[in-house]
Amino acid sequence: MNGNIGSFDAFCVAMTSSFQHLLTDIHACALCKERFALTATQHRPRPVLWVSPDVAPRILIAGQAPGARVHESGRPFSDPSGDRLRDWLQIDEATFYDKSKLAIAPMAFCFPGYDAKGSDLPPPPICAKTWRTPVMNMLGDVPLTLLVGGYAMKWHLGGARNVTQRVMDWQSHAPKVFPLPHPSWRNTGWLKKNPWFEADLLPVLRARVSEVLK
Ligand code: SF4
Repeated sequence: MNGNIGSFDAFCVAMTSSFQHLLTDIHACALCKERFALTATQHRPRPVLWVSPDVAPRILIAGQAPGARVHESGRPFSDPSGDRLRDWLQIDEATFYDKSKLAIAPMAFCFPGYDAKGSDLPPPPICAKTWRTPVMNMLGDVPLTLLVGGYAMKWHLGGARNVTQRVMDWQSHAPKVFPLPHPSWRNTGWLKKNPWFEADLLPVLRARVSEVLK
């Protein structure tokens, strides 16, 4: 047996095992238990992270935080935002939820609860501070990363630009990274005000998605 291949296999097994341990730790995480208990929903942590420790994904979706529906379902983007995101990418649900193709890692893995106006609270910063670097290290070099919303853009790109500025500057990051607005219905007005997003960005993004999934 070729010694190099044997060493590489052992390295892959060790990485898979480390990633599995990391996922086990994340799914047992209760760092925000008290914070969530103080919200109107008084929910318990339920991390929703869609990755496979066994296979490198082709696309990473770096989102914001699960909403209440995703908290219930345990499946990311199992809501109208997910329908719009799949339409943007022109992929069906089977592809979207195939962990060998897509990984979904939001900036906080649990539903943060609602604010006084009924909007989702921001992702608790402690989640990215604790877990994001180890998860990104385990995912490695993903061919296409989608930064969905301002929190993911800030963590992955740095700087202090707003969402519109960053999305307008998408050609500086393509084809490896695409900053995208959150696909929530709350951004329908933004989409109407910025028709270049659907006319110019989406066709390029769809071509890139098709290319990396081949
Ligand atoms: S949001 Fe992140 S840090 Fe907070 S409980 Fe969930 S997994 Fe833990």
